[in-house]
Amino acid sequence: MTPEKFFPYQNDHMFAEQVAISELAQQVATPFYCYSQSAIEASYLDYQTAFAQQDALICYAVKANGNQAVLTTLAKLGSGADVVSVGEIKRALSAGIPAEKIVYSGVAKAEHEMEFALKQGIFQFNVESEPELELLSQVASRLNKEAAIAFRINPDVCAQTHAKISTGKAENKFGVPLSKAHIAYNRAAELPGIKIQGVDVHIGSQLTQLAPFSEAFTRIASLVEQLRQAGHNINVVDIGGGLGIDYQGEDLPSKQAYADIVEQTLGHLDCKIVIEPGRSLLGNAGILVSSVVYVKTGEERQFLMLDAGMNDLLRPSLYDAYHDIQAVNRVDKPLKPYDVVGPVCETGDTFAKTRQVHQSKSGDLIAIMSCGAYGAVMASNYNARLSIAEVMVKDDNFAVIKKRPSYEEMINQDIVPSWL
Ligand SMILES: *Cc1c(COP(=O)(O)O)cnc(C)c1O
Repeated sequence: MTPEKFFPYQNDHMFAEQVAISELAQQVATPFYCYSQSAIEASYLDYQTAFAQQDALICYAVKANGNQAVLTTLAKLGSGADVVSVGEIKRALSAGIPAEKIVYSGVAKAEHEMEFALKQGIFQFNVESEPELELLSQVASRLNKEAAIAFRINPDVCAQTHAKISTGKAENKFGVPLSKAHIAYNRAAELPGIKIQGVDVHIGSQLTQLAPFSEAFTRIASLVEQLRQAGHNINVVDIGGGLGIDYQGEDLPSKQAYADIVEQTLGHLDCKIVIEPGRSLLGNAGILVSSVVYVKTGEERQFLMLDAGMNDLLRPSLYDAYHDIQAVNRVDKPLKPYDVVGPVCETGDTFAKTRQVHQSKSGDLIAIMSCGAYGAVMASNYNARLSIAEVMVKDDNFAVIKKRPSYEEMINQDIVPSWL
C-alpha cells in the first residue's frame, strides 16, 4: 500500500509529505492526482542501492507516468528511460534524459518513429519481430546510421499475473519466440545498419513472485551463451520491468531480492544490465484525491458516489484492480461498508464493492491509494469529463504539474466541417 511515510495521517488527517490533503483540495479542485516527489526519489534510490554491485542502467518505463515533473525528478537522479513511442522519446528528452540512456520497446514502431530515434542516437532498439528488423535496417541504412539492437525474446513463461498484463507467454503478441531467436540474430548479423548488442525480455507487469523472473532470466542466460558461441556480440541484457507493488498490503519481494535473482541468473555473463521498472518506481508515489458527491442508500448497499470516475482511473474497470481507499479525515468516524463508484454512465465505473471506509458524507475527501503508475496516463475524456489536474508535493511545497483544461479548450479540439 501507499507508504505511510509519504502519505501519513496526522491527528487523523491525511497528508502528502508535509502538506495536508484538505489544504491541497482547497487550492486545486477535486478530483486530482497527487504525487510525492520524495517517494519517487526513495524508490529510485532503492533500485540504485539494490543494483549497486552490478553494471546496471535503470531505464524508467515512461508509459507508467510520463508527466514532465516526474521525468525531471528521475532525470536528475540519473535515470534513463524505456519508451514505447516517439511521443515518449520526446517527453524523456525534454525532461533532460539523454538519448544514450533511452531504450525503445514496442511491437509496432512506425518508420517515422525509428527515424527520429536513430537521429537522436538512442542506446538500444528492442526489436520485437523480423519485419520490424527489416524496416529498421532500411531506415538506418538510408540515414547512414547504425541501430544498436536487442531482440525482445518471448521466453514462454507464465508471469502468474492478470491475463491482460502478462506478456511472456507464447500466445502473447510480444517479442520473438525463444525457438526462433537464432534465426533472428543470424538475420540481423547479415543486415546493413544493424549492430547486435543485446538480448531483451519483459514477461509482464505486477509480478508478486520472483520465480517467473528467475525462470525467464535463466532461459535468457543460456540463450546469451549460445548466441555468443554462434559468434554474436552480446554485452547487454535488458530484463524489462514488472516487479509488483503491494496494492493490498501483501508481502512482496524487495528490490534487493529481485537484484539478487538477477545477479544469480545473469551475473556470470558480465553483461550490462538494463532494468525497465515502471509501476515499482511510481505506483506507490501517487494518490487520486476525490470528493464524495452523494452518499446514496440503495436497497442492499450504500454507495459513495465520487467526482472521480473510470475515465480518470481506469485500472479497476480494466483489470479488476484493487486500490486501497481511505477517508482523508478519519476523526471519530467508524468504518462502514460502501460500494465506491464514479459518475460515468457505465456499471464498470466502480472502484470497489462493499469496502470498509471511514463513514463519509457529501463533500468529504476520499483518497484512492497507489495511483502513481498507470493512473493519469490512461485517463480519457469519456462522458465529456475534463482531464484532471496533477499535483506534486515536496516537503511542505506543492505545485500543479498539470493543469486542468477548460471546457472551451476541450470543445475547441473538435472541428465542424465547413459544409455543416
Ligand atoms: C510496461 C513495460 C515496462 C514496465 O512495466 P512495469 O510493470 O510498470 O514495471 C517495462 N518494459 C516494457 C517493455 C513494458 O512494456
